[in-house]
Amino acid sequence: MSAATLPSSWTISSIRESLLLKTVSARELTAEFFRRIERDNPRINAFLTVCPERAFAAADHVDALIARGESLPPLAGVPVAMKDVLSTAGVRTTCGSKILENYIPPYDATAVSRLESAGAVILGKTNCDEFAMGSSNENSAFGPVQNPAAPGYVPGGSSGGSAAAVAGQLAVAALGTDTGGSIRQPGACCGITALMPTYGRVSRYGLTAFASSLDRIGPLANSVEDAASVLAAMAGRDPLDATSTSAPVPDYRAQCQEPLHGLRLGIPRQYFGEGLDPEVRQKVEEAIAMLEKLGCRRVDLDMPHTDYAIAAYYIIATGEASSNLARYDGVRYGLREPANSLREMYKRTRGRGFGTEVKRRVMLGTYALSAGYYDAYYLRAQKVRALIARDFAEAFQRADVLITPTTPTPAFRIGERTSDPLKMYLADIYTVTGSLAGIPGISVPCGKSTANLPIGLQVFGPHFTESLVLQVAHAYQEAASPLPS
Ligand code: GLN
Repeated sequence: MSAATLPSSWTISSIRESLLLKTVSARELTAEFFRRIERDNPRINAFLTVCPERAFAAADHVDALIARGESLPPLAGVPVAMKDVLSTAGVRTTCGSKILENYIPPYDATAVSRLESAGAVILGKTNCDEFAMGSSNENSAFGPVQNPAAPGYVPGGSSGGSAAAVAGQLAVAALGTDTGGSIRQPGACCGITALMPTYGRVSRYGLTAFASSLDRIGPLANSVEDAASVLAAMAGRDPLDATSTSAPVPDYRAQCQEPLHGLRLGIPRQYFGEGLDPEVRQKVEEAIAMLEKLGCRRVDLDMPHTDYAIAAYYIIATGEASSNLARYDGVRYGLREPANSLREMYKRTRGRGFGTEVKRRVMLGTYALSAGYYDAYYLRAQKVRALIARDFAEAFQRADVLITPTTPTPAFRIGERTSDPLKMYLADIYTVTGSLAGIPGISVPCGKSTANLPIGLQVFGPHFTESLVLQVAHAYQEAASPLPS
């Protein structure tokens, strides 16, 4: 097939089919995605680095398997992108920060190497908010990302480049990371599917730590099925991350296609209150009605501690970040500013290397952890975290899954919230709760606003019920397809 006749959108199964029918080779498909990146990335700014050598080597390996008639691994030839907080051996990994502008890691993150072993072709590294701190991608040291679904608007963040790469058809799937919403929120803003797995489901080895008790890696894709395939390829115990679980990895792709049987949908009132955009509310209510038509039952319930989630999250996440980011001192990694004393070198390196939001968080976190304030802030935030987890545990007694909006509003304009950090933090009001509780959550597109901005529906399930949240999201996606406008 010549480039001109290749389809514009690909799924994991259409790639497999085309490879087996030999209508396209993995090398040709890879070349096609690099052409797209060359054409569109100057406008979208989703990729910070591309790695064609590595990509073509992986593609050639897949083509060799096909030539020898051997069986293909599950992600054979699938062009993917990695958020630039995931270590890639020999490929620059900036974390969206000036302090790591020229940092080349000596090893791969486990999620990266597992996708590659499953046959995926890694095209490159995607733009993100600096050290994954942000909700709009505007905190990147390497410029904002355009939302392919809505030019002039943010793609969400912090995995904005990953979401934009998939939505802009510059990759078939991408990995993002989610600490308080950073997979689900950009997924919602760009109109794609985005899954945050349970804490411990995917190894964090090789992920640059932001807030270690919250950080998770997960897929962004064009469909629930594709997200399920990517999760299956990377989930599972890794001796290099002590928090990764040895619980068996189900066949997520097969399980997500099971029909829904009388599931109870918990609808927490606190997610539909003040601050929710009326159009978002309407689309989410329509989605709930559709799930009811598919045989689910609606259960309205209360989650009384929801209002405290943002405050608790910003104490805990900044506390952990202030400690994790201490390692960027000019001695071990990345940028080093010359100075006459060690102290001066630290100051200059960190002063010039970190952006405003990162500095704000290091200061906030250090303050909240310091003697005299620890009990009032950090300890109290941990207690609130336990109460939020209890809200979820109680809700899951009455409901199988919870349904909420992913974000209170659709994507906003680039520049609109940069001078108001609090307003920016509120973009994660419906996502941080699940982050604090450690449970899985998915965002699927559920229509568009009158301004044509995508809207996301969020499904939460109890710990390690990825199959269930994928199943609900898949049933909805099938029933709503072609996607509602
Ligand atoms: N937007 C949230 C924050 O700025 C969440 C970020 C994330 O999930 N990495 O912290």
